[in-house]
Amino acid sequence: MYRSKTCGELSIRDINQEVTLAGWVQTVRKFGAITFVDLRDRYGITQLLFGENLNTLLDEQPLGREFVLQIKGLVQERSNKNPNLSTGDIEIQVTAFTILNKSAVPPFTIQDDTDGGDDLRMKYRYLDLRRNAVKRNIELRYAVNRSARNYLHEHQFMDIETPFLIKSTPEGARDFVVPSRMNPGQFYALPQSPQTFKQLLMVSGYDRYYQIVKCFRDEDLRADRQPEFTQIDCEMSFVEQEDILHMFEGLVKRIFKDVRNIDYTETITRMTWEDAMWQYGNDKPDIRFGMQIANLKSAFRKGGALLAQGELINGAGFGVFDNAETVLAIAAPGCSEYTRKQTDELTEWVKRPQIGMQGLVYIKCNTDGSFKSSVDKFYAEDKLKAIAEAAGAKAGDLVLILAGREERTRKATSELRLEMGRRLGLRREDEFKLLWVLDFPLFEYAEEENRWVARHHPFTSPKPDHIEVMINNNPVIENADLYLEHPYAHIKANAYDMVLNGNEIGGGSIRIYQRELQEKMFAALGMSPEEALHKFGFLLGAFEYGAPPHGGIAFGFDRLCAILGGSESIRDFIAFPKNNSGRDVMLDAPSSIDDKQFTELQIKLDLQ
Ligand code: ASP
Repeated sequence: MYRSKTCGELSIRDINQEVTLAGWVQTVRKFGAITFVDLRDRYGITQLLFGENLNTLLDEQPLGREFVLQIKGLVQERSNKNPNLSTGDIEIQVTAFTILNKSAVPPFTIQDDTDGGDDLRMKYRYLDLRRNAVKRNIELRYAVNRSARNYLHEHQFMDIETPFLIKSTPEGARDFVVPSRMNPGQFYALPQSPQTFKQLLMVSGYDRYYQIVKCFRDEDLRADRQPEFTQIDCEMSFVEQEDILHMFEGLVKRIFKDVRNIDYTETITRMTWEDAMWQYGNDKPDIRFGMQIANLKSAFRKGGALLAQGELINGAGFGVFDNAETVLAIAAPGCSEYTRKQTDELTEWVKRPQIGMQGLVYIKCNTDGSFKSSVDKFYAEDKLKAIAEAAGAKAGDLVLILAGREERTRKATSELRLEMGRRLGLRREDEFKLLWVLDFPLFEYAEEENRWVARHHPFTSPKPDHIEVMINNNPVIENADLYLEHPYAHIKANAYDMVLNGNEIGGGSIRIYQRELQEKMFAALGMSPEEALHKFGFLLGAFEYGAPPHGGIAFGFDRLCAILGGSESIRDFIAFPKNNSGRDVMLDAPSSIDDKQFTELQIKLDLQ
């Protein structure tokens, strides 16, 4: 028997018990004739006391950091208790010890505040995983996993595995491909998600499916994305959108309760995609705080109609506003006393390439009722007052205004809002705000290809009263500049995203389940009937054999864990993550392969 107890469970109740422990040497402290050792395992740390009688043995077999040690000894009360440790009341008077394995000196300290940098810790991830901070994240991940499984199991969902070696049908992200030795010249793709399989399972009658599953997308890695990531992937038959929203609100609330002991009793806010864009400038608003965007002038169309024509700001001779497609404002509460230095710094902030604006206009709404602005020259005080009011500002607020092309300005204003929220402490880590964003557009305009692409994926159904618009209009975009005038731009989908504190944590849709409509959808995306058949013939075929109405959702498991763990980084919650260039620095992957492997695959490399 290697151990009778773990390093985290002994307490004052166990005094005088004889125990065997095994673990890693955290520290060795010698005090004259006696030696204290902190022994660590997954469950905690227990202090060991080596008396004088073991000195000769310790001299012969000195202990070092991270040695694997087994000891026998007697639990005794500690004279010098440590209230910060669950085992802090006791120590073990060691009677015998065995070094089970030695350790090289670790490249960084295995402590909460380690001295190891990011790269080093990734290279020695198996050591990093020993640290409490990382272990807590991995434990939290498992708690989320367990909670989700319990909830889904209780609601009749079945975990059914779907294959990883599938057919390449890129749409959206790029596929990772795997050459087939047995079928020379042919390739599998790794699934970007189990989407079509879960739909086929619905056709097969498994009306509630789930899987906590790896997905693979060969995307340029923006900050904090992983080429392989995990989804809680779900699908249900005989459901409408409302059924899905209800079921998965339950799932998330259950996870909150199980993992963080949070009773999320309030009704989850719902917002249409248009309102999210209109009021917050993006489709995953952080609603922990207000500071909504005021549209002073905008090319954004709501329900197809152009809103905010710019009456308030146009014609004052200020070319920046007059010539801008879009002018948007937010009111930062209580910031009217910002100094010149602070407003200059904010101006520099919006000029950063990531934000990409030319400048920033401000209006200070002074507490004495006066207004002061960087564009005083063009706007009289009553005009400034009217603009400030339109921006929802109160006395004491600072109105920040951005102008430029619609898309960039809206995005920048959204970023500025988040930044001001952060600076003003309005994005509290201990506050959780869930939100459903509904009624997404069915299509998105792909500029490079001058065609429509599916905003969610091609299996998402249009709103029933938008089906006609899709069927009766030619998808071809005659004039790229006027793509917003095309009827397709305003078709809405039965699609929904769940947003938590400004992060999309899940998304899904009610699916198309009739062959004819699915074919129309493929055609709308510019696919010829032959191409549709080649890529998705299996699904179209299946839809001919009694496909039930169905819909589903997938949650980003890594992201959900990170948010619940109060971290920005999903990497912290993945046992063996890749770095920002998609490399596993521990394995040194990707790497080249042997010539023999190329020969077997009948592949010749011809790197450009
Ligand atoms: N498969 C979709 C995705 O990965 C989610 C869904 O529609 O269920 O985004």
